[in-house]
Amino acid sequence: MPKIYILSRPTFDDEHKTLLKDILPSEDSYWLEYNKVSQAERLVEFAGRICYLSFGKAQSSRTNSEYILNLIRNEHESVLEHAAWTFAFSDVSRGFTHQLVRHRIGFSFSQLSQQYHDESEAPFVKPLGLERSPQALEAWEKAMHHARDAYREILLALDNGSSGKLDKEEKRFVRSVARSVLPNATESTIVVTANARAIRNFLKARGNIMGDLEMRAVCVELFARLLEESPALFQDFTIEKSSDGSLAVVHYSQQAKDG
Ligand SMILES: Cc1cc2nc3c(=O)[nH]c(=O)nc-3n(C[C@H](O)[C@H](O)[C@H](O)COP(=O)(O)OP(=O)(O)OC[C@H]3O[C@@H](n4cnc5c(N)ncnc54)[C@H](O)[C@@H]3O)c2cc1C
Repeated sequence: MPKIYILSRPTFDDEHKTLLKDILPSEDSYWLEYNKVSQAERLVEFAGRICYLSFGKAQSSRTNSEYILNLIRNEHESVLEHAAWTFAFSDVSRGFTHQLVRHRIGFSFSQLSQQYHDESEAPFVKPLGLERSPQALEAWEKAMHHARDAYREILLALDNGSSGKLDKEEKRFVRSVARSVLPNATESTIVVTANARAIRNFLKARGNIMGDLEMRAVCVELFARLLEESPALFQDFTIEKSSDGSLAVVHYSQQAKDG
């Protein structure tokens, strides 16, 4: 199963109080926070309130969650871009990461290199659902075995005569040739920084595709972690169980569409 590690999360500094004192008349230079929420949620609410200077007497009694839901409903989602996390995804396949890196806006990626890293011992991620057919499982295991053997054979053949003393670019060349036989199942690790708006787009597009089990598994884990982090920013998503017991991340608009 894919693993997700949170490497960094948003912080919100007390300097916002100085800002309010600097830009607002003293009688209105305060912000009433009605409930205790995460730094990310505070940051988003504060950024939203800056747009309308709704502090002091101009402030309504909305909770943070209500305030953020209102931003989402009004499609004022650029405010959500201020909250960003850095994750590491591990035990995922190169097939999955290839789909992930198609998301261009609000994402940054750093992935394990197959040119610098010798993949002779790289594990393969067994696709979820493969166990439904022993015949498919056997074919898959055979193909992985052949791919690994071919990778090692190519490395050895091109390395031949150097007694392991290839320079950096020669190593890059040899590994580039050898990796061409590695399958989509090759395990990878990728560090991903993404803001809340980009993650929401990702979950909407990818969280509920029934045939894409690995993608759904990542989305479910990502959503579960983010619910612990900052539930208000993802409050219009939910987890649904399908008939086969697997889980999906569903946006409320998709629930409505599916009846
Ligand atoms: C079910 C499914 C099937 C897919 N099948 C294929 C496939 O067969 N082949 C394939 O190549 N890809 C496929 N994709 C990938 C898909 O086309 C997108 O590249 C990927 O999902 C990233 O989505 P995005 O562009 O919305 O995300 P991002 O790149 O993060 O962009 C976010 C949003 O920013 C806006 N945006 C970004 N770039 C531009 C731009 N250049 N111009 C205008 N607006 C922009 C759009 O509103 C976009 O939704 C598939 C995706 C899904 C979910």
